[in-house]
Amino acid sequence: MREQFHLFDLHVHTPFSDAQYPLDTIVEGLIDNGIKIVGFADHVFPFAMYHNPKRFGDRRRFNNGYSVDLLRYRKEFFRIYNKKFPKIRFLHSAEVDINPRGQLTLPRGITPDFFDYLLVVKHQTFPTFPRGTHEFMWEAGIYKAFVDYRPDVLAHPHENFPKHLPVEKMKRLVLYATKYGVALELNKNKFDEARLKPLLECGHEHGTKFSLCSDFHGFKKDIIDELNYSQHMFEIVERYDLDLLDPRKFLPENRSSSTRRPLQGADRG
Ligand SMILES: [Zn+2]
Ligand SMILES: [Zn+2]
Repeated sequence: MREQFHLFDLHVHTPFSDAQYPLDTIVEGLIDNGIKIVGFADHVFPFAMYHNPKRFGDRRRFNNGYSVDLLRYRKEFFRIYNKKFPKIRFLHSAEVDINPRGQLTLPRGITPDFFDYLLVVKHQTFPTFPRGTHEFMWEAGIYKAFVDYRPDVLAHPHENFPKHLPVEKMKRLVLYATKYGVALELNKNKFDEARLKPLLECGHEHGTKFSLCSDFHGFKKDIIDELNYSQHMFEIVERYDLDLLDPRKFLPENRSSSTRRPLQGADRG
C-alpha cells in the first residue's frame, strides 16, 4: 500500500443547496473526523432552487444555485469564512451537471475555471433522447464533457449507470477517465461493491485516480458518521490498492497558471 493523503472530502453540500444543517455544524463535524481539506459542491443546474429561510434569513428565502450572483457571493463567502476554521482548508467547487448533449449546466458568465476544481455529474436526462438510446447517450455525454472540459472529478459514476451496463463499457469509462485525467469518485451512497468490482480492478490496473467524498446532505440519522463517509470509502482504496488524487494541488497556493483549464469553447471554432 502506497502512502497517500486521504484526509479529504471533495463533495459536501451546504445550505447553499440542500444540506440540512448549518455550515458550522458541518465543518465542525468534518474537523472532528480528522478531515483536512473539504470541497463544497452544491448543485448547479437550471432551476436548482432551494428553500432555506432559517439559514439565510428572510432576504434570501430561496437560493437559486444557477444564479451568477449567488455563485459569486458563495465563492467569496467560503474564502472569507475559512478564516474561522484554521484546522481545515476549504475548496470551492460545485456539482455541475452534464446535460444529455455533453454540455455543462453552468450559467452564462461562469466558466469551469471559476472553481478550485471542476466536479461534474450525470444527473440530467433532459432533453430526453429516443427510447433504447440511453446507454449510448450516457456514454457519449460523459466522454464529450471529458474531452471539452477536462473535469477533475466525475461524481458518483455508479449512481447513474444505465441499468444493464456491460463490463466492457464500465472498463471503457475507466480508460477514458484515465486518459483525460478525470478522477472517479468513490461515493458510499448506493455503492454496490460486487457490481463495481470490474471498475475498481480496472482502475487499479491502469493507475486511474479516485476521489473520496461523503456527498453530505444530512439526510442520515447519525450526521457525524455521514460526515465520515469519505473515510469509509478509504477502505475500498486499500482493498483494491487504488490511486487517490491529491487535493492539495487544488489549493490556491499550488495552482500554477499553466494548469488552468482553457475557457469553455476558447480554442474551438
Ligand atoms: Zn449527485
Ligand atoms: Zn451531491
